[in-house]
Amino acid sequence: MGKVLITGGAGFLGSHLCDRFHKEGYYVIAMDNLITGDLANIEHLFKEKNFEFHHHDVSKFIHVSGQLEYILHFASPASPIDYLKMPIQTMKVGSLGTLNCLGLAKDKGARILVASTSEVYGDPLVHPQKEDYWGNVNPVGPRGVYDEAKRFQEALTMAYHTFHGLETRIIRIFNTFGPRMRLNDGRVLPAFISQALRGEDLTAFGDGSQTRSFTYVDDLVEGIYRLLMSDYVNPVNIGNPEEITINEFGKEILKLTGSESRIIYKELPEDDPKQRKPDISLARKVLGWEPKFSRSEGLKPTLEYFRSKVKI
Ligand code: UDP
Repeated sequence: MGKVLITGGAGFLGSHLCDRFHKEGYYVIAMDNLITGDLANIEHLFKEKNFEFHHHDVSKFIHVSGQLEYILHFASPASPIDYLKMPIQTMKVGSLGTLNCLGLAKDKGARILVASTSEVYGDPLVHPQKEDYWGNVNPVGPRGVYDEAKRFQEALTMAYHTFHGLETRIIRIFNTFGPRMRLNDGRVLPAFISQALRGEDLTAFGDGSQTRSFTYVDDLVEGIYRLLMSDYVNPVNIGNPEEITINEFGKEILKLTGSESRIIYKELPEDDPKQRKPDISLARKVLGWEPKFSRSEGLKPTLEYFRSKVKI
């Protein structure tokens, strides 16, 4: 089996991809600058012979010796508080990082899959979101650094495909959860679970009526694997269409954890999308993919992970 380079390999999604490709028999190179990634996520792979870790910022020139069969570009701060704290790095990794990965793919004759996002739809005016919706993004708002970097990433990836004939794949990832999410990454699921476990009030932003659709990480990894192995070039949504309001989600977490905390309300961040739900008819058609885990099934192993991490 060939070699796979996974950028952001020490992150939440990247580390699960390292596991999957290693299990499939590939030689895996994980690359990460560790600004939001954590070596603890891939520690178990260090003793394996078909695994290497490169501590590197992919916004700078990337060197990998020998052949490469696949590149998966997953490096980027991905949670709103991270990209608000690191706006320039977020833009660099989505633009220069993508350029370097595409250049490397061209040099090696490798197929590349880039991680795009439901954020390309911004605060969507079309619901649910289909791949042919162009989105509603504020380029100069606080989320613009992530959204526009990812939109640029998609455009650049398509340009390499059409101009150089590079084999490219683009996945649009919707809110995903599972073990190895950072407790303090500021996203709603780690926030609510750690607050509930600590007996603190759950902080819903705005009036909590905004919706999200949460995908369990194993389903996402399966979708990524299938898309990479397919011959489909245009962007594909991967996400679980089970939509829920943040209020209902808070209640679900309180019930699941047996917590007696309350839900309290804080200011809604600027440009926070009011609704989000993937239309997955394309993934069903071209990949034969659909989620296997309901939110409640996925929450079990996730809660177990958080229980082992939260210091009460
Ligand atoms: N949110 C919340 N409380 C928190 C963190 C987030 O109510 O402690 C809300 C946030 O305003 C958004 C939704 O939960 O409407 C999902 O936020 P997250 O940061 O998880 O991801 P997003 O989908 O916004 O990128």
